[in-house]
Amino acid sequence: MGRYTGPVCRQCRREGQKLFLKGARCYMAKCPIDQGAGVPGMHVARRAKKMSEYGSQLRQKQSLRRQYGMGELQFRRFFAEALRRKGVTGENLLQLLELRLDSVVYRLGVAPSRRAARQFVLHGHILVNGRKAAVPSMVLKAGDVVTVKDSAKSKDAANRSVEAATGAQLPQWIAFDPATLRAEVLAVPTREQIAPIVDEQAIVELYSR
Ligand code: SF4
Repeated sequence: MGRYTGPVCRQCRREGQKLFLKGARCYMAKCPIDQGAGVPGMHVARRAKKMSEYGSQLRQKQSLRRQYGMGELQFRRFFAEALRRKGVTGENLLQLLELRLDSVVYRLGVAPSRRAARQFVLHGHILVNGRKAAVPSMVLKAGDVVTVKDSAKSKDAANRSVEAATGAQLPQWIAFDPATLRAEVLAVPTREQIAPIVDEQAIVELYSR
């Protein structure tokens, strides 16, 4: 299955929680979840019975996958890598996702959402360690330096977004200078710093079935 390209808010409605997929709009009163919109579809009432363990694990996985705007296959690949690495698989998975280049660009405020950050990266506006990096799923590591391409178009777009994001909290594991649009990954984020809105252990259990 490829990447989802349908209505964005529908994904939050499906998961029954805010996944913050639309940038500033997610903090406005018109967010459908804040307005009480329920699960989309015609046969919701029939499906509203108690959820099985498998069902709730599946919902956790879908929520996390959708937050990071990934297709199932790519998400599976990230999980396989998390499993391969030493340490706690669930935490490894969260770290890999959070260190994706598009996610880091979003965290910096250079783009208003992960979706927008993905586009920004794909259009070649971002450099990693001084080299063009147009792969949104690239996983960064401690010490990597992220900058915005030295062109008026790239810098203007990034500056507009950074100004709009003023006040948003920058994660402690990234150092960012808004004046030069230069960021450095200081460390791999801890689980507490990522503060996921899902239970990652349920996802590990789902994939271990
Ligand atoms: Fe989700 Fe944002 Fe849409 Fe609200 S506005 S439903 S948080 S994407």
